[in-house]
Amino acid sequence: MKTLVLEKNRDRSVRRRHPWIFSGAVARADAGLASGETVLVRAHDGEALGRGAWSPQSQMRCRLWSFDPAEEIDEAFFARRLDAALAARAGLTGADTDAVRLLHGEADGLPGVVVDRYAEVLVGQFLSAGAERHKVLLADMLRERTGAVAFWERSDTDARRKEGLEPAVGPLAGTEPTARVEIREAGLRYLVDVRGGHKTGFYLDQRPNRRDLGGAVAGAELLDCFSYTGGFALAALRGGAAAVTDVDSSAEALAQAAEHVTLNGLDDGRYAQIEGDVFKVLRELRDRARSFDAIVLDPPKFADSAAALERAARGYKDINLLALKLLRPGGRLWTFSCSAHMTPELFLKVVAGAAVDAGRTAVLERELRQGADHPMLLTFPESLYLKGLVVRVG
Ligand code: SAH
Repeated sequence: MKTLVLEKNRDRSVRRRHPWIFSGAVARADAGLASGETVLVRAHDGEALGRGAWSPQSQMRCRLWSFDPAEEIDEAFFARRLDAALAARAGLTGADTDAVRLLHGEADGLPGVVVDRYAEVLVGQFLSAGAERHKVLLADMLRERTGAVAFWERSDTDARRKEGLEPAVGPLAGTEPTARVEIREAGLRYLVDVRGGHKTGFYLDQRPNRRDLGGAVAGAELLDCFSYTGGFALAALRGGAAAVTDVDSSAEALAQAAEHVTLNGLDDGRYAQIEGDVFKVLRELRDRARSFDAIVLDPPKFADSAAALERAARGYKDINLLALKLLRPGGRLWTFSCSAHMTPELFLKVVAGAAVDAGRTAVLERELRQGADHPMLLTFPESLYLKGLVVRVG
């Protein structure tokens, strides 16, 4: 097997079980390594540390498959990883839902591999050279294990470009999925656009937080900002909210949200929509002296690099400040950040700053996270990305 040798004193993060090796940490690698090929990782003194996938074009030159240097990266290896990931999710699907994230990349020991299950359809993203190399095998193995009829690839994210990989969208195994795949969650039905929707089609990561909101808004007037296809809105309507208004800039997402409301028999006059930019809509609502009992802020990733963090923090502060002002006394804000660069501590600070500027007393009732099917690998802090705060204002 070909070998990669780390620079002197650059072995610490691998020893601490962080799976990424950046180009600056690589002293040398054997010639002729192919993209995605498995390579033995050695410290500068020659000690073997693990096995990873070589990625020649990426700043992230290697991602570790295993921290055991003797572990072969073969079909049996992938079988062990898949079986462990599936076993960990065994309790998550069933009566409540038929949609779940099956593989969450690094946190499931498979860097760059993301697979979601939507009823009988699997949707995968292969975001690294190593993932790309083994994707057909992984798709076949997963289909066999789950009995799913289709495996649809949605490898169309920026992360792939950084790996020097072209976008890839299409069937990897099985039959072609229908245009929209119906799933169920907590007694609600959703239609997931696996071909054109965000990510793999749906925000599965917010499942526990939809439940949290739904259980706390009976009788409330809710403003659901960055609604996408209405995940939070549906949970709130089912939970007995008096009125729900979705705000999103995408007409297509709002059309899908409206369809979801009808599909679930919730079109009883409580649901409304505003198509527009949340930054502007919140200001308009403030100028019209509107107020709400509950507000959800679930914006897209404002920071996709450490450098973008300061600007992102201003964006988060702006919308949180406006939302806090729109809440009636005793009202609650469910506010989220899905940028991994925004740490839980910093996010809390930003929202606290917004409360100061809004002149409102604010107490933190609960902290929320991505669901258990999107686990965080403790030695890889980047895998904690979705943070939520439930804040009550005085
Ligand atoms: N809350 C959703 C997921 C939100 S994804 C859920 O749980 O399913 C982010 C959404 O924000 C997308 O639908 C996108 O269209 C929308 N969006 C992005 N920027 C926006 C802006 N400035 N104003 C309004 N909507 C925006």
